[in-house]
Amino acid sequence: MNFHEYQAKQLFADYGIAVPVGRVARTPEEAVEAAKAIPGDLWVVKAQIHAGGRGKAGGVKLARSLDEVKQYATAMLGTRMATYQTAGVALPIDCVLISEGTDIAKELYLSVLTDRSTKTITFIASAEGGVEIEKVAAENPDAIKSLHVNYVEGLQPYQCRQIGFALGLNPKQVNQLTKIMLGLFKLFNEKDLALVELNPLAILKSGDLAVLDGKINSDDNAAFRHPELVAMRDVRQEDETEVLASEHDLNYVTMDVISLNGGKPANFLDVGGGANKERVTEAFKLILRDPDVKAIFVNIFGGIVRCDMIAEGIIAAVKEVHVNVPVVVRLEGTNVEKGKELLKNSGLAITPADDINDGAKKVVAAAKG
Ligand code: ADP
Ligand code: MG
Repeated sequence: MNFHEYQAKQLFADYGIAVPVGRVARTPEEAVEAAKAIPGDLWVVKAQIHAGGRGKAGGVKLARSLDEVKQYATAMLGTRMATYQTAGVALPIDCVLISEGTDIAKELYLSVLTDRSTKTITFIASAEGGVEIEKVAAENPDAIKSLHVNYVEGLQPYQCRQIGFALGLNPKQVNQLTKIMLGLFKLFNEKDLALVELNPLAILKSGDLAVLDGKINSDDNAAFRHPELVAMRDVRQEDETEVLASEHDLNYVTMDVISLNGGKPANFLDVGGGANKERVTEAFKLILRDPDVKAIFVNIFGGIVRCDMIAEGIIAAVKEVHVNVPVVVRLEGTNVEKGKELLKNSGLAITPADDINDGAKKVVAAAKG
């Protein structure tokens, strides 16, 4: 489940993390009232949608007067906004956050997530924040620091200080960062979160750190333990069919990763938990009955299915069924190395993928090529 920025900041505050003074408004009049209650004469009007990238899309505006607050709130409220993160969908702006405007000297990046490869809660920090972190990771990987937290010891203050000094912070800022990181770690664990992202975590001209943006994603499997989080759900930001399905405990998949990469899924086939060679072969036959299928993406992620078995199934199927379209395979789970080895040594034209995004990219390219 995703949260709005204003909800994320409320949760931060609950965990002792300082956030800029802010109020939510649902009408332009409320926006003006909110601004009046915030000290100073610089405000920021922020569209509340379940996506980042709002700044570039016109959803974050600095206002220098109450008139401007009203003007920006009027322009945003009741409209829809698409950003580079919304996969072509425009999300409704039902409320705006009015927050104190700050003088920014530098923007940092800080996030906490569960890292699948190391099976740890991991902090990721960068002195190059504000921008798309994916770009920093691709172009300047050294600028990204990560910290894998030992699950027995938990997060230690000295580790936070190390990150702080690696980011080039002064001692006062390092202390502020330590408080933020310890608070985030507690929040992450107690609320069963999957991702928390502060982008930017800003250094202000005053020298203080400030949490200017917050994004939270929680683990749906733990929702039953957190009615207080479920109460914050905003279904208007979610895909309608997925919401309907979730009401009946069904899992409807919109395959947005394929769409995001410019492709169009022909169908979705779930091989299930006890897949063996025969079933995978049958699955390939079924998929290929559709003459519009231009490529096949096999995405296996899970513990029950053995990856080497899936690999054997794929190899057998490609040989037996005469698969005449490109096949991209992403494997993750039990016996994954053995599975990859089998695919590599099969001598068949099967493209391996590192993760779901990589696979989606490759299969769309293969389908178009
Ligand atoms: P998004 O990530 O959706 O674009 P942000 O909240 O990160 O939205 O805002 C985009 C940019 O707007 C930030 O990188 C920052 O430069 C600026 N900004 C955000 N909040 C404030 C604020 N309170 N005061 C001054 N500038 C801000
Ligand atoms: Mg941001």
